[in-house]
Amino acid sequence: MAGFIPQSFIDDLLSRADIVDVVGSSVTLRKTGKNYSGLCPFHQEKTPSFSVEPDKQFFYCFGCGKGGNAIGFVMDYENIEYPQAIESLANSMGIEVPREESVQHQQQRELNQTTFDVLQKASTFYQQQLRQHPDKNSVISYLKDRGLSGEIARDFKLGFAPPGWQNLLENLGSTSDDKKALLDAGLLIENPDNKRNPVYDRFRNRIMFPIRDRRGRVIAFGGRVIGDDKPKYLNSPETPVFHKGEELYGLYEAKQKVRKLERILIVEGYMDVIALAQNDIHYCVATLGTATSTSHLQRLFKLVPEAVFCFDGDNAGRDAAWRALQQALPLMEDGRSARFLFLPDGEDPDSQVRKIGSKAFVSSIGEATQLAEFFFDNLCSQVEMESLEGRAKLGTLAMPLIKLFPAGLLRQLILDQLAKVTGADLETLNKMSGDKATTADTHPYAPVEQARAADDPAISVKPKARSNVSHTCRKAVNLILLKPEIVKKVEIDESIKHLESNEIELLFEVIDLALNAPASSTHELLASIYGTPIGSQLIQLQDREQITPTTGIEKEFKEIVQYLTSIAKRKVAQNTLLAEARKKLAAKKQ
Ligand SMILES: [Zn+2]
Repeated sequence: MAGFIPQSFIDDLLSRADIVDVVGSSVTLRKTGKNYSGLCPFHQEKTPSFSVEPDKQFFYCFGCGKGGNAIGFVMDYENIEYPQAIESLANSMGIEVPREESVQHQQQRELNQTTFDVLQKASTFYQQQLRQHPDKNSVISYLKDRGLSGEIARDFKLGFAPPGWQNLLENLGSTSDDKKALLDAGLLIENPDNKRNPVYDRFRNRIMFPIRDRRGRVIAFGGRVIGDDKPKYLNSPETPVFHKGEELYGLYEAKQKVRKLERILIVEGYMDVIALAQNDIHYCVATLGTATSTSHLQRLFKLVPEAVFCFDGDNAGRDAAWRALQQALPLMEDGRSARFLFLPDGEDPDSQVRKIGSKAFVSSIGEATQLAEFFFDNLCSQVEMESLEGRAKLGTLAMPLIKLFPAGLLRQLILDQLAKVTGADLETLNKMSGDKATTADTHPYAPVEQARAADDPAISVKPKARSNVSHTCRKAVNLILLKPEIVKKVEIDESIKHLESNEIELLFEVIDLALNAPASSTHELLASIYGTPIGSQLIQLQDREQITPTTGIEKEFKEIVQYLTSIAKRKVAQNTLLAEARKKLAAKKQ
């Protein structure tokens, strides 16, 4: 049911629901002191690190960092949104949720429902026409030429808008209300100047591709000409239910087909999505006549860790890819990846997959260019790398873009690479890469005072502004907490201690703990330090960081240790040089 849930009801619900009962109905809890503990339902574990505190009506997992109140638990456990969680919780307690709805809201909702209904009717009509209309053969032979099966046509609910100006109008627009609904949905065009047809069908003699929202409702159509008419592709206009800058064609269908999406391939047209699905590549989406935007990508990265952009290999394609890269930069947190698949000149995904077959196409996706590689390829192609000036220009071009990256290993990798190809000093680059507020903090050898400032909760709510070393250390600590035994498997170079910062100290304290405590699990480890300053520091830290990898923990830890070792060794080398220089200077003076 729609409408606002009054806040007073939510407060009342929370005061009546006991978190121990709510969690206890899904997780076996054991009383430990005044709290309860159990096996965390949100990550895999053998010993309990999940704790429920009746006093605070709060749950918290020391293993994966999840925590919240009763509603939060229901949201996470049932994987549903806030209002649904309230419904679910109230339901389980036999309480009905009251709803308040503003008149305006109610009217809009009813109007939208009418629009959804008429769009669905239109979709059914177009599908019928594809089966029944006397002119259907031209469409069917077009689809067959493209190698599409009846099954795929059904999955994507393809249809046919027959030739003529009044088909939809005559079939679905008999009353004035119906006509208005068709107009609101963008299916009719009103033009009083046109004396013969003041109102007529928008889509005529086209193959129809219904565009569906995340709930599978038809919200718009794309239509492709069958003959040579212009435009080749025509989309519904913006309506209250269709905002083309936000939608991705094929996303609903992909989610229906693939239970756990691992990656998404972003292509340009409907036919590309459908042709790839026909070739068993079911994880493709297309933007609707707009360039890929940050909001598109945000939506995709919520679903999958990897986005692969597919473009034509010509200049226009590479330009479009570069624009997509810039949209992706701010979203490139650790654990996410963006890659670029360039097709041979003149091919689109549809023609390419038919030419080389599904297997070869999938392996070309697997070998697509990494973001970092495309980043340097593109920038280096704009300057003369042989000259000093050219390399300096490369730095100038790269730095504003690097600033867009969130702090993390990828940004550091790009900086390292930039230092290598330009011959610039990494330390200077690191300094430049932070914005004004974080310059000092981004410095790899940030003085202790600044590292302390990063511990101030008021400052640390912005995790992206933290230094690479602090960020990396926190990550390492989290990995140890997730899997303490990794410290015994990865060799940790003592030189890292030369990187003086609070985070480094914390890291070594945790390493010591994990090495010396008999604790083999996160829970035991944390239990052994519960109530100590370091214990509370760790709990705070877990609250802030959101990494919950399930595999590759040891590998990631190893990479972090190697990374820290490399910068520590560089620092030691620099210090030695400095000391020598001072010695020489002192000798000269004497
Ligand atoms: Zn957990």
